[in-house]
Amino acid sequence: MSGNNYQLVCGLEIHSELKTKSKMFCACKNDPFAAGKPNIHTCPVCLGMPGGLPLANKKAIEWTIKIGLALNCQINLFSKFDRKNYFYPDLPKGYQISQHDIPFCHDGFLDTSQGRVRIQRIHLEEDTAKLIHQNNYTLIDFNRSGVPLVEIVTETDIKNAQQAKEYAQKLRQILRYLDVADCDMEKGGMRLEANISLKKKTDPDGFLPNYKVECKNINSFRFMEMAINYEMERQAKLLDQGQTPKQETRGFSAESGKTFSQRAKEEAEDYRYFPDPDLPPIEFEPAEIAQIKQELVELPDQYAARLSEEHQLSLDLAQRLVKNKKRAEFFEQLLILAKREKIESKKIINTLLNKKIDYHLSDDPKNTIEEYKKLNELEEMSPEIITELIKELLQENQDVVEKYQSGKTEVLAFLIGQSMKKIAKKVDVNLVKKVLLDQLNN
Ligand SMILES: [Zn+2]
Repeated sequence: MSGNNYQLVCGLEIHSELKTKSKMFCACKNDPFAAGKPNIHTCPVCLGMPGGLPLANKKAIEWTIKIGLALNCQINLFSKFDRKNYFYPDLPKGYQISQHDIPFCHDGFLDTSQGRVRIQRIHLEEDTAKLIHQNNYTLIDFNRSGVPLVEIVTETDIKNAQQAKEYAQKLRQILRYLDVADCDMEKGGMRLEANISLKKKTDPDGFLPNYKVECKNINSFRFMEMAINYEMERQAKLLDQGQTPKQETRGFSAESGKTFSQRAKEEAEDYRYFPDPDLPPIEFEPAEIAQIKQELVELPDQYAARLSEEHQLSLDLAQRLVKNKKRAEFFEQLLILAKREKIESKKIINTLLNKKIDYHLSDDPKNTIEEYKKLNELEEMSPEIITELIKELLQENQDVVEKYQSGKTEVLAFLIGQSMKKIAKKVDVNLVKKVLLDQLNN
């Protein structure tokens, strides 16, 4: 296949709505998904009416910096909001408030199993209204207009579709751990965009092709993976024919599994950015950033590493326990209790992961430990317990023991039968016989 001659050059731009109580620049409720009715959480500011004055949401700014710190970014102590001018029906002001040349965060990274993905920048902006296309008309819902939206932009470090998927999934996991975003992909709370081009394998590191295809508004990790793989094949074919793929924006159709052209983009658009005169620049003291850093929760990779070390689990296994914070906390409680009860951590975790016990993350881990103990007693009765039970039996049958010890060894069969009855569980009869003989000849 021709694709073997080429190397993917890919960066991701991921948008995520923040779940602050109010919108980015007004006091309207930030609740676009559960609003019940369209256009109820609106005011002159988020409807773009003349005279509406924006006021920046402090929480949203702090959360953006928190995201930046979690992604190992540098933080700009001086920053500002800019107007990005363009016209579209979902943008009544005729411009979007965004950040142009001084984003809150820059130069970070996120590690994946296939290597480091550098993060170029993280900026904060406002979401647009939602367009709902009906048969022959379009409705606009302004409940979403002005919802805080972070955009996280990577460098072109992504080597294949699988790594793109892993990066995006890890990013969602971190945003959820930080408790700043729900990242509901189906509802559009998190939106994926992949910039895709190919270079020759012989091209040097850092070489950028002279074209770029943007696949926009992808709402599932799997679709993004499919879109990248499809584009790699499509572009390789064109390159093999001596053509340069068109610089354009493409959508992805889940039905066909293919990308399709949406609009050509021969030149970079000119949004005529300028600082928003209604919003003063934002300045931070280093101590304020240090404070936010101090308040950061333990992130999934650190959490997994700690569980692995404290409870002698492989890192792989620990990583399966920390998919989300609630799950991580449940398993950590369980592991602490297991340690106290001298239950081997790997054993109980595997029992749960293999679904041999029915458990829910809302359960009290104490009950789960009890369930595990019960299951274990049934499955493997320890030799110590068997010995205890047999000792008891012999005490109750002193006369038989005496008979045996005076040479009537045929009573052994009777004692084995009685022992099996007393143990009342499926155990190895040879083990019972051995324990009995040990006790009798003692
Ligand atoms: Zn409003």
